[in-house]
Amino acid sequence: MKDRLDKRLDYKINDPYLDKTQYKDPTICPTCGLVYHGKTWKRDDELKKQLEKEGKVDYKECPACRKIRDNYPMGVVYLSGNYVKDEFHRSEIINLVKHEAEKEENSNPLSRIMAIENGKDGDLVIKTTTEGLAARLGKAIQRAHKGNLELKFSDDQKLLRVVWER
Ligand SMILES: [Zn+2]
Repeated sequence: MKDRLDKRLDYKINDPYLDKTQYKDPTICPTCGLVYHGKTWKRDDELKKQLEKEGKVDYKECPACRKIRDNYPMGVVYLSGNYVKDEFHRSEIINLVKHEAEKEENSNPLSRIMAIENGKDGDLVIKTTTEGLAARLGKAIQRAHKGNLELKFSDDQKLLRVVWER
């Protein structure tokens, strides 16, 4: 028990969806096709095909798909200011965000964009399944477009808010 508690303290945010005891090894996510094997979730179509053929596999939605279905983001990026209201800059930022998310997903397939929404006053709001992706998006936007960036954990430590303004 102590081991598990110690491990949890390493997380900046306690992710209630990452309890690995919920999953049998191997498991396939019926929604996105990720495979849980060797204690990690991975994109491995060969392994998936093989497991499906053998039939000895569980089917259960992966943590990312469950967060998306529950609308439970762990990171939210708020973009505001006149810069982001400009159509050209806005589409440039959205392209950058999608590109960064693809790169992140290659290293962590559970890290995904849940939604890109229009907020009030032309703000842009991006919800992510991990706090790491939200931080990465904020930093990439600041690198490419300058502006002011702030990262704040919510009081209950359940969410990372990434606030960018220009
Ligand atoms: Zn999934």
